[in-house]
Amino acid sequence: MKRIRAGVLGATGAVGQRFVELLTRNPWFEVTALTGSERSAGRRYGEACTWRLSTDCPAEVRDLVVQPSEPNLDCDVVFSALPGSMAGPIEEAYAAAGYPVLSNASAHRMDPDVPLLIPEVNPDHLDLLATQRARRGWDRGCIVTDPNCSTVGMTLALKPLHDAFGVRRVVVTTMQALSGAGYPGVPAMDSLDNVIPYIGGEEDKLIDEPRKILGTLDEAAGAVQPAEMRISPACNRVATRDGHLEAVSVEFARRATVDEVIEALRAFRSVPHALGCPSAVEQTIIVRTEPDRPQTRLDRDAGRGMAITVGRVRPCEVFDCKFVVLSHNTIRGAAGGAVLNAEIMIAKGMIP
Ligand code: NAP
Repeated sequence: MKRIRAGVLGATGAVGQRFVELLTRNPWFEVTALTGSERSAGRRYGEACTWRLSTDCPAEVRDLVVQPSEPNLDCDVVFSALPGSMAGPIEEAYAAAGYPVLSNASAHRMDPDVPLLIPEVNPDHLDLLATQRARRGWDRGCIVTDPNCSTVGMTLALKPLHDAFGVRRVVVTTMQALSGAGYPGVPAMDSLDNVIPYIGGEEDKLIDEPRKILGTLDEAAGAVQPAEMRISPACNRVATRDGHLEAVSVEFARRATVDEVIEALRAFRSVPHALGCPSAVEQTIIVRTEPDRPQTRLDRDAGRGMAITVGRVRPCEVFDCKFVVLSHNTIRGAAGGAVLNAEIMIAKGMIP
C-alpha cells in the first residue's frame, strides 16, 4: 500500500514528538511536513526541537524544515498537537482546505458534528462526518478528535460494562502524570514531593467526554445523544512522568458480580485490530489480578502504550463495583489514539 503523507501540527511539543515517533515507525504513513510556532518555524526539526523521548529523534525527519501552521502543507492528512487555545481556527482552516484533521486538542471535541473517537468504542460515530461536511461546506476535509488523556482509560473500561450492565453513576479519582501538562509543564518545585489536587478544566472534560463517546449516534439529528450517566471526577497531578492512574467506582443498572465484571472486560474485542490497523492491539483491555497492579511505572507501556490495564476489581461499599485503570497519556491518551483514529478511517476507505 502507498504510504499516506502525514503532517504534524505542533510537532516540537510533548505530543508532537510522540506523533513523529509513532508515525515514522508506522507502515501506513510517512512524515512529510512539520509545523511549530514562530520560535521554531524556518529551522530544521532536529535543531528546533529538543527531543525528550527515550528513543532517538528519527533520522528521516531531522532535516525537515519546520513550517508555520498554514494550510498549504505537502501531505494528505494532518495530526494536530496544537495548544487547545489556538487549535480551533487553525484546524478549521486545514479542513476547509481539504485536509482530514486528526486532532488531540480540545477545541472541537464537543462540537455536535465532530466525532470524539475511541475507535474500539464508537467507530460508528465517524458517520457524523457526512453531516459535518454538509453543514460546514467542506468536501474532502474534516475534523476528527480524540478524547482528553484522562478520559480514554476510564471510557474504554466503561464501554463493555455499560453494554453489559448499564452504567448509571461513576465516581473517579485520577492520579495524572506530569507529561499530561506538556513540556516543561509543572515546575519541579511544585511537583516534587507533592500531589496537586487541581488540573484546570480537566474535571469538566471527564464529565462530558465519556457521555458523548458512550452516547448513541442520532443520524437524523446529525449529533450524538449523550449516554445517561452521572460522573463525579476528582483530578490530581502526581509526580509520575507518564501514565494516568484512575480509581473508579461504578453503579450499574443491573447487578453484576466481580466475576461478571472481569469476564465482560476480558471479552472486549478490538474492531480496529480486526480491521488490521497497525497501531491496534489484540487485547485493548488487560485485566490483572495481582492485588497491587496496575502500577504506573510497571504497566503504562502495556501493548506498546496502546492497551489499558485494569486491576483491583472488587465490590464497592457504596456503588456496585470499583477498580483501578491505567493508560499511557501521551500514547493511548494522545498521539497513539489519533494515529489509530486515522488508521480506522483508512481501513474504512475514508482517507485519503
Ligand atoms: P506542548 O508540549 O506545550 O507543545 C505545544 C506545541 O504547539 C509545540 O510544538 C509548539 O511549538 C506549538 N505551538 C505553540 N504555539 C504555536 C503557534 N502559534 N503556531 C503553531 N504551533 C504552535 O503541548 P502538548 O502537551 O504537546 O499538547 C499539545 C496538545 O495536545 C494540547 O492541545 C493538549 O491539550 C493536547 N493533549 C496533550 C496530552 C498530554 O498528555 N500531554 C494528552 C492529550 C491531549 P514551539 O515548540 O515551536 O513553540
